[in-house]
Amino acid sequence: MDDKSRDISVVVVGGSYAGAAAAKRLAGLSRRGYTGLKVTLVDKSTHYFHAVGFPKALVDAQYAEKTFLPLAGFFGADTKHEYVNRQLAAVVDAHHIELDDGRRLYYDYLVLATGGQAPAPVNVTGRTKEEGLAEIRALRQGLEDAESVLVVGGGPVGVEVAGFVAAAYPAKSVTLVHSRDRLLPEQFRVGVSNGAVEKLNSLGVNVVLKDRVEIPPDFGYASHIGHCVLRGARTGREYTSDVQILAVGFQVHSEYLAPLEAAVGSGALRTEGSGAIRVRPTLQIDAEALPHIFVPGDANSLPGSTKFGFKAEMQGNTAAANIRRLIESGFDAAVKENANAPAPAASAWTDYVDLILVPVGPELGVAQALKIALGCSSLADFLVRQLKAKDFMLGMRKGYYPNAKRVKRE
Ligand SMILES: Cc1cc2nc3c(=O)[nH]c(=O)nc-3n(C[C@H](O)[C@H](O)[C@H](O)COP(=O)(O)OP(=O)(O)OC[C@H]3O[C@@H](n4cnc5c(N)ncnc54)[C@H](O)[C@@H]3O)c2cc1C
Repeated sequence: MDDKSRDISVVVVGGSYAGAAAAKRLAGLSRRGYTGLKVTLVDKSTHYFHAVGFPKALVDAQYAEKTFLPLAGFFGADTKHEYVNRQLAAVVDAHHIELDDGRRLYYDYLVLATGGQAPAPVNVTGRTKEEGLAEIRALRQGLEDAESVLVVGGGPVGVEVAGFVAAAYPAKSVTLVHSRDRLLPEQFRVGVSNGAVEKLNSLGVNVVLKDRVEIPPDFGYASHIGHCVLRGARTGREYTSDVQILAVGFQVHSEYLAPLEAAVGSGALRTEGSGAIRVRPTLQIDAEALPHIFVPGDANSLPGSTKFGFKAEMQGNTAAANIRRLIESGFDAAVKENANAPAPAASAWTDYVDLILVPVGPELGVAQALKIALGCSSLADFLVRQLKAKDFMLGMRKGYYPNAKRVKRE
């Protein structure tokens, strides 16, 4: 039975691509008569950081200022839904989470959209706009003082960063080292990889393939400012530089799931090594007893080819649609009567978008659409410039954060 006035508590952790999409959609159910529904958005940061725009933010101070959008006021005024600026410390059991201030929150439905982390400041670690901006500013200052820059990792982030640094500082020597025999991940066609090399070379970037730079442990999980010589593990080659930007490695911080694993005794919910959270095609966590917990976005164990912001957003929408189905079936009410109440079937997430745009500096770029490679052509430059390189799609994010327009005044 679907009593729309019943109390329903939905907790969404993470207010970025996946979480913002899920939280906004689910809050919309209030307008459909679910008067007892409360959505709580939990995020450890005060602002959404537009990591997608990091390559431009690194070299453009004015743009960097705009890449932090306030989470405060996320649900707008006059609403019972709430944003809580805290870190999720633990998923305690099938119906409670604990925050880093010790507070416990009850949930009927939980969305874990906590994403992942690349080495700082590619993903900033600061939890406020000021702290995040300071990380980016420090690396920019390092670049300005440097004569030579080493970018480690030739995935999309490394290619974009190397291109923007080379375009902004044409007098500096920029080297990009990648461990594989071509740039960019497997799902990119060879023509796109070749186009990226050609366009980086045209900006003066020295691209080295098939070598793995040994990162000293004292770098921590972050880029590094300081003159040093790093060794290539495969070639023994020495790379001398004044700044080393790490665009490699990606970690999922899902330690908060350990208590839940113990509580439900359903085995490991996380993938060994990466920490990614195991999910079913429906984005439900991979445990029979937990059909009300969803993991959209970078935090889940789906393949690397799905680790894109727009796909995380699509997954957030799928998770919300599945929760809506559970709510409309009265699942949460049924569970309160009988803990083993069956859940209705949920829909699988489908990955139907096939468009990848990789700017190589502000003017050039490579792209792939419907598996067609747009590498060396000037059509790719035009497309990437028009669709992405100008603001790195920041404008598309602003709709999620009602206070984004106040950014200029902060
Ligand atoms: C430099 C860079 C460039 C990129 N370029 C592109 C691109 O051009 N196009 C594209 O589609 N994708 C791009 N991506 C990938 C894209 O940014 C990610 O796929 C996307 O951000 C994933 O979204 P998400 O919501 O799953 O997680 P995230 O964006 O990682 O967000 C996770 C959120 O959860 C919060 N959080 C984490 N842990 C906790 C906790 N324990 N408690 C409370 N809150 C927590 C964080 O503060 C954050 O707000 C890029 C990524 C990087 C780093």
